[in-house]
Amino acid sequence: MIFLYRFEVLPLTYSSASQSKMPDQPRQFCVLFDLDGTLYDSPEYSERLEQEIARFVSDRISVNLEQTKAVLQERRRELGTLTKTLESLGIDREDFFESMAARIEPTDYIRSNPSLRSIIETLKKRGFKVALVSNSGRPLVEKILKALGLEQSLFDAVITSSEVRPKPSPEPFLEALRRTNCEKVDAVYVGDRDEAELRPAKMLGIRTILLDRKGASQSRWADSVVSDLTQIPDSATRVLAH
Ligand SMILES: [Mg+2]
Repeated sequence: MIFLYRFEVLPLTYSSASQSKMPDQPRQFCVLFDLDGTLYDSPEYSERLEQEIARFVSDRISVNLEQTKAVLQERRRELGTLTKTLESLGIDREDFFESMAARIEPTDYIRSNPSLRSIIETLKKRGFKVALVSNSGRPLVEKILKALGLEQSLFDAVITSSEVRPKPSPEPFLEALRRTNCEKVDAVYVGDRDEAELRPAKMLGIRTILLDRKGASQSRWADSVVSDLTQIPDSATRVLAH
């Protein structure tokens, strides 16, 4: 069934010429997954993370917790991202990522999810490369993957904010494409935030799928919207066939 699907659907996309690959090079299709809010969804974890961010920043800038929360809120609104906020406060990114991973135990909040493995394996059987593109630092990404019951080797590339600037920077998307040997036109990004994640992917020419578990969001940047990750293999195949 899977092979029939693969041979019937993917060759359709081979008919349109790839921009920069030589004609004798087969096209490589790939799916780039966001991690937080996409491969798992845990409001309790997000809340704990926010608390620890405030505690960590409070320690580093020697300002009490309540004032720190107010500063963080204001700067995030002004600057748009947590990364820029931390930079504006003179906080080292690596110090921040390591400290967050030491303070939080994702297994307290995030359960193993066997359907993720089967979704990734289905994509691979259909010829996709699969990458993870996370705004968390590597130490925390490693812990979260472990909590989800996924080994890193399941992914063809794991890009974290320890190596590149986080989304909405184009850097993590481009690094994922480089590592999977995939052209922008042959890639689809799957994420849960329209502006912060899908917009920068779309601006680069990468196709996009919004995961909207509640089915309530308006999307400006999605080629397709799904409410459940199990829809991703079919949705990615469809989106890339157009
Ligand atoms: Mg996300």
